[in-house]
Order: sequence, then structure tokens, then C-alpha cells
Amino acid sequence: MKITRVETAVVEANYDYTYVRIWCDRNGAYGTGECFFAPGLTAIVRDLAPLLIGRDPREVDRLIRHVWRKASGAGAVAGFLYNATSGIEAALWDLNGKLDGLPIYRYLGGKVRDRVRVYADCHAGYNVECLDSVLEPRSPEWVRAIESKLEHGEEKFEPEQYARRAKEAVAKGFDALKFDVDSIVLATGEELNRPLTNGEIEQMAACIRAVREAVGGAVDVAVDCHWRFTPSDAIRIASRLEGLNLLWFEDPCPPEDWRAIQQVKAAVRVPVLTGENLNRRQGFLELLQARAVDLVAPDVQKVGGMLEAKRIGELAELFGAGFAPHNIASPLGLVAAAHVCATLPNHVALEFHGQDVPFWNDLADSEGPVIENGRVVLTERPGLGVELNEAVARRYRRPGEPWFGEAWKA
Ligand code: MG
Repeated sequence: MKITRVETAVVEANYDYTYVRIWCDRNGAYGTGECFFAPGLTAIVRDLAPLLIGRDPREVDRLIRHVWRKASGAGAVAGFLYNATSGIEAALWDLNGKLDGLPIYRYLGGKVRDRVRVYADCHAGYNVECLDSVLEPRSPEWVRAIESKLEHGEEKFEPEQYARRAKEAVAKGFDALKFDVDSIVLATGEELNRPLTNGEIEQMAACIRAVREAVGGAVDVAVDCHWRFTPSDAIRIASRLEGLNLLWFEDPCPPEDWRAIQQVKAAVRVPVLTGENLNRRQGFLELLQARAVDLVAPDVQKVGGMLEAKRIGELAELFGAGFAPHNIASPLGLVAAAHVCATLPNHVALEFHGQDVPFWNDLADSEGPVIENGRVVLTERPGLGVELNEAVARRYRRPGEPWFGEAWKA
């Protein structure tokens, strides 16, 4: 059996949902995977394609290790290469599952649960945006349409907005939520390499307290800092949030310095999570050995693939750490991550970052909603078990990008 084609397509949602499709010479079979966005990503996938074409798609781990080895000559031990190979790897699993009539979790040891808990990312209480691969805002038609009917006006980082957003997510069936606190400071327009003011920290605490009061004690609430703070400021924030019974305190300090994260964890009584910017097991090993985190958050679309994410989850289990994958993907990427979560006893919650994308669920060609009552239900359907609804997805395709082999025409 041989791989015959490797193709890409990109949808402009809140982020660029970037798909890889791999075809083989058996009955026109193909698999589709999703990558985390990155500058030049589809060009990277195209450049990697010759390493795959003509090879046996059933040897997934062998193929991915082959690509990593060949790309290491270009200096890649981390970075966007892993976004590309994560999408390639998921496409290979989807293809294998379809060929064998098996759901992907069966290749990962089988599931230990049927329903995978998902948490709702609620941003900073408000979020309608479409960002390019370096997080610059764009205004496609779907964003303009929402903004023109917005009741709440401009984004404000106020407790009321956080509380309203929390109640809306709980009403949709989610029992775990996440909110950003760094946006409160970013909104001041000031650079962040300075100590925070007490006023800023009080505003963060007021917003998260409003969330806790709005949802009551039984709903889990996590807080994200997006690597913005020094250890001392992160400790000031987390200490102020103690008593709110947080699910976790995410990415307090830059990911390249795990000792800073360890410093925060040692000083506060709030579980600490990190990992969305790390690649492969190597990215997590020292962090876990140093007991610097309580939960790991690999992103299945950029960490190196589904199998690698499973291995990281098992590594975390050895150190008593939970598994709570970061996720900003379309239904395909979310379900791919759910297959991994289903196989790990230490899974806590998988991120859902698409609440404000009006067509998010429509991108899946599935029966019913992809997420129901805050859970993804895994089925016996082969491969990922969910297909891209191309009739919908094409409407939002990114200008200039090919659509699975079909060139862009203006
Ligand atoms: Mg995060």
C-alpha cells in the first residue's frame, strides 16, 4: 500500500483551521488531519510531502519519525515542523482507521471512558475575532456580520461581562470553564515587562470572583495567563485567587523557562498547568521530573501527533499529573484530541475554543452536535469518526490557499 497524495486546505475561523489530507492507492481512501496554525504552514506540509509519497501509510510511527529525522537537518528540534507533522499524523490515523474499520482510539490502547469531558474557553468574557497566523486581526464577512449586531459593545474586562459569559457557558451544558486574566492588563496598551499594579491584580481577582459567584461551587473554573508574567507577579495573582477553588492556573510564565513555573507552583495553593507550546515528550520530561506542574496541556495539533500526546499523557501519569489538552481546533482537531483523552485515566478536561465561531459545529459532517452537555461522545465509527463538511468549510476558505489540491482562484 502506498501514499499517493498529500493535500492541504485552510478555513478562516477564529484561527486558521489548517487541514492535511493524505490519499493512498487503495479504493480511493483518504484520511484528514488538522494542524495548529503557523506562518507558512501549508508550504511546510507541501515540502514534507515527498517524504511520504510512495511509502506505506500503515507505518505511522515509522513515517513520522522519518519526517522528524529528515527535518532535523534543517535545524528542527521544535517549532512549526511539529504543527505540520501533527496534522500529517492525524490524517494517517484517520486513513488507517477507515481502511481497517476501526476508531483511532483502538490504536492507542483502547478507551478507558466513552465520554470525554470538554471545558469551554470563555476568553476574557467576550471574544469575536478572526486572527491570522501571527495573531493579527482580520475581518472576514462572518466577523463583520456578528459585530454589526453586537449588543454588548466593545470588549470590556469587567466582572459583569465575565459573569454573564460564565452563565451562558453553563447554560450550554459545560461544567468546566476557563477565563483569561492577562487580557485585563493587555487592554491597558502598556508593555507587560513591568511589575503589575495592585489595581490590575484586584481587577483580575474581581473578574474571576464574579465567575465563581455566577456559577456556584460545583462548576470548575480555570484561569489562563498566556505566559505574560514574571514568577513574582504570577505568585501575587495566584495568591489573590486562592480560595476560589480553581481547577488550574495556566501558563503563568514563559514556557521556555520551566523553573519559573516551578517557582510559582511551589509558592501557591492553586494547581498549575502548562504545556501548549511544548513539543514531544522531550518538552515535558524535565518539567515533570522537577514536579513543576500539576497538569500538562499538550496541544494535539502541534505537540507531534496523537500517539505522542498519548505518550505525554502516560508520562504525566507517572508523576501524578493530570492531562488537559490545549485545543483551538475545528471539530476534526477537537475529536482527534478526544480520541487521545479517551485512552488516558488522568484526563481532566479538553479545551473547546470555538464558542464564538457561528459555523463551528457545521464544519463537522456528523449526526448531531460534536459536543453535547460538555462532553464528546466517542463512537465506533472508523478513523476520527467525523468528516469535514466541505460544502460548509469551503465557504470560509482562506483566500490564496489551495483547497485539497484545487488551486485558489481569485
Ligand atoms: Mg492557554
